[in-house]
Amino acid sequence: MSTFDIRSSLREIYPPARILTRPAELAPYESDALTAFRARPVAVVLPQTQDEVVATVRWCNRTGVPFVARGSGTSLSGGSLPVPDGIVIALNRLNRILRLDPTERLAVVEPGVINSDVSRAAAPHGLYYVPDPSSQPVCTIGGNVAFNSGGAHCLKYGMTTNHVLAIKAVLADGEVVQLGGGSVEGVGPDLVGIFVGSEGLLGIALEITLRLLPKPEGYRTVLAAYRTLEAAGEAVAQVVAAGLLPGAMEIMDRLAIEAAEAAVGAGYPLDAAAILIVELEGELPEIEAELAHLMRVIKVSGAYEVRLARDEAQRQVIWKGRKSAFSAVGRLSPDYIVQDGVVPRGRLAEALAEIERLSRESGIRVANVFHAGDGNLHPLILYDGRQPGALARAEELAGEILRLCVRLGGSITGEHGVGMEKRDYLPQMFGQADLEAMRRLRRAVDPLELSNRGKMFPSRE
Ligand SMILES: Cc1cc2nc3c(=O)[nH]c(=O)nc-3n(C[C@H](O)[C@H](O)[C@H](O)COP(=O)(O)OP(=O)(O)OC[C@H]3O[C@@H](n4cnc5c(N)ncnc54)[C@H](O)[C@@H]3O)c2cc1C
Repeated sequence: MSTFDIRSSLREIYPPARILTRPAELAPYESDALTAFRARPVAVVLPQTQDEVVATVRWCNRTGVPFVARGSGTSLSGGSLPVPDGIVIALNRLNRILRLDPTERLAVVEPGVINSDVSRAAAPHGLYYVPDPSSQPVCTIGGNVAFNSGGAHCLKYGMTTNHVLAIKAVLADGEVVQLGGGSVEGVGPDLVGIFVGSEGLLGIALEITLRLLPKPEGYRTVLAAYRTLEAAGEAVAQVVAAGLLPGAMEIMDRLAIEAAEAAVGAGYPLDAAAILIVELEGELPEIEAELAHLMRVIKVSGAYEVRLARDEAQRQVIWKGRKSAFSAVGRLSPDYIVQDGVVPRGRLAEALAEIERLSRESGIRVANVFHAGDGNLHPLILYDGRQPGALARAEELAGEILRLCVRLGGSITGEHGVGMEKRDYLPQMFGQADLEAMRRLRRAVDPLELSNRGKMFPSRE
């Protein structure tokens, strides 16, 4: 179908004001947070109802036009990059919380609902939604579902997949299905589990039933400073080996500290090679007992300075520095790649030492800020895109780090998805038979490969 035909045929479903086609209208949709990749779609449509999304997917099937679902476009792996001959279905207007049931402790939401809005709505009932990506004030539940997103507090409670009870979705072939139910007790295979983390390749989530949990009674937040990044990594393994299960354990290295300090002035120790933030959460008597235990472990781990947040305001300041770190790194470099890999917790120190070596040898600065408790690394690889070859060199280093993660028994992605960025690394983790099984699953619901075409699977297969 020609560009002209696609645009005029979409008027069967949308009024002209909700079909974006002009270059200036399309520009914001040309890339996600991984701006190194760009593609201009033929059109962006702005559905306001689930029926419109279903009608659009069926229209795509009739016409053979590929589509990409998009939430807020904060993907860091090119997951919501458009297909040049396709359309983008932007879901931000489907942003209603349809039901909030404190007795059943669940919320039924549309995919365009912003992550932190769920907790805000649940707060009067003493409840909250656990998965908390650092992008939570902007990213959507639909995007979180597609990427099985995580966050600082997923160490204790698990990732998005552990908090989704049911999904109503339009599959890529236009069929509307209900996966899962309103309870953690499921019958039959875990179809919700298959959809979560499928990166938009199976279809579009229209309605998501989320588990809500009671808000912890209290928190104890500790900041420990170390002379080496390796020592901070080692401390993470020691905390877990001591039998503690904190709500969160995050590490920031010297460059990340510097950037966060310049941006929000959280009062982090500027002479530290790395800081470890550990947060205990739960019932007050329990966390007081755990705190005494934690302080002993931290002391033995070689921290040269340890701070305990005395009140909620001090706790918020510590977290403000951490949560702003990614964007703050923009102050250190015009461009950077946010890498996302995983290593077993016990091998964190080794991985960090190796990343430092690779950075030194390549002459490329790497800032580290990550969910250490999960073994989930986020090396930020700094480069200047205006210099010829700089992006290619940064990508080369990013690839080396991924290979390192796999070599140490980890994974090429923790929470940011495979998207466009890492599809050629998928065979590092999976054999041909595994990849074929994934492809067959996808083709079972999307024989034409219309939904998020070109993502996740290796480009050279
Ligand atoms: C500063 C910053 C910090 C971040 N921190 C974290 C973090 O701590 N943890 C983390 O996990 N991620 C983090 N991210 C990455 C990103 O925010 C998450 O991956 C998030 O889930 C993406 O949500 P989104 O609404 O922006 O989705 P988009 O980027 O719009 O889309 C992401 C993927 O989801 C698909 N999709 C979107 N909606 C639907 C739907 N309804 N049905 C099916 N597929 C859909 C898209 O096609 C795409 O493949 C961060 C990003 C930034 C920029």
